[in-house]
Amino acid sequence: MLTSIKGKSVIVTGASKGIGKGIARVFANQGARVMIVGRDAGAAAATAKEIGNGAQSFSADVADWDQSQAMAKATADAFGGIDILCANAGVYPQTKIEEMDPGEWDQVMATNLRGNFLSVKACLPWLKKSGEGRIVLTSSITGPQTGFPGWSHYGATKSGQLGFMRTACIELAKYGITVNAVLPGNIITEGLEGLGDDYLKTMAASIPLKKLGRVEDIGNAALFLASKEAGYITGQTIIVDGGQILPESLEAIEQV
Ligand code: NAP
Repeated sequence: MLTSIKGKSVIVTGASKGIGKGIARVFANQGARVMIVGRDAGAAAATAKEIGNGAQSFSADVADWDQSQAMAKATADAFGGIDILCANAGVYPQTKIEEMDPGEWDQVMATNLRGNFLSVKACLPWLKKSGEGRIVLTSSITGPQTGFPGWSHYGATKSGQLGFMRTACIELAKYGITVNAVLPGNIITEGLEGLGDDYLKTMAASIPLKKLGRVEDIGNAALFLASKEAGYITGQTIIVDGGQILPESLEAIEQV
């Protein structure tokens, strides 16, 4: 199953830690050649070394057009092309609207939304050549499905990614490229751990499966969407959240 991933050239943005690192590990374990991208060159290189299997690293800010182009070119040079882009880099500072500086809004838009567009645009020349190009976006349940105080800007970007996806999949279909998105719920990462123990415990209690997700859970969903076997799926979303968005009230989850 999913043997078609072997030997594919894959870029994972935001892969030096967290969900991106999990996605990179899942693809590398299937025999893909993976480029680990993050702004901190040392962290990206350390992750590539830890993952092994020929993984390499490149330092780039996905919000910067020149750096995004350099990222794509370096990957194509290293691996002979680009077959799969996992556009995963994202930030989620938590600030309520009344306290939010407009500069913070712009910074979240720049990384999460402009960054998504720039990564896709920069990789396109090689994804087109691939013949079976795959783009997998990391969105979120926050925005497309739910709201959470402090994440108005973040939720807007995560919904925005899906708006982008629904036109991108139509524009790129003629090249055999599919564009899909994974919507993670609460996944244990360094970034999420920074929100504190109380947040993590309350979240786990509100999830029907009673636990937070693992980064590999997102990696496995991305792997499926990137596979040859998923070649007739485009413009779609997979929610990976342990059932978190389903209970319609606190009662619904406390009664079981
Ligand atoms: P994380 O642990 O904070 O890791 C973020 C990664 O992105 C790091 O590798 C970071 O490296 C990189 N990054 C941040 N800004 C970047 C930029 N401008 N250019 C290039 N790389 C950048 O975050 P995470 O929790 O894994 O989240 C990853 C993605 O999953 C995000 O898109 C997030 O919205 C989404 N998500 C996460 C959860 C969750 O529960 N964790 C839930 C739903 C969705 P550098 O700092 O070195 O650049």
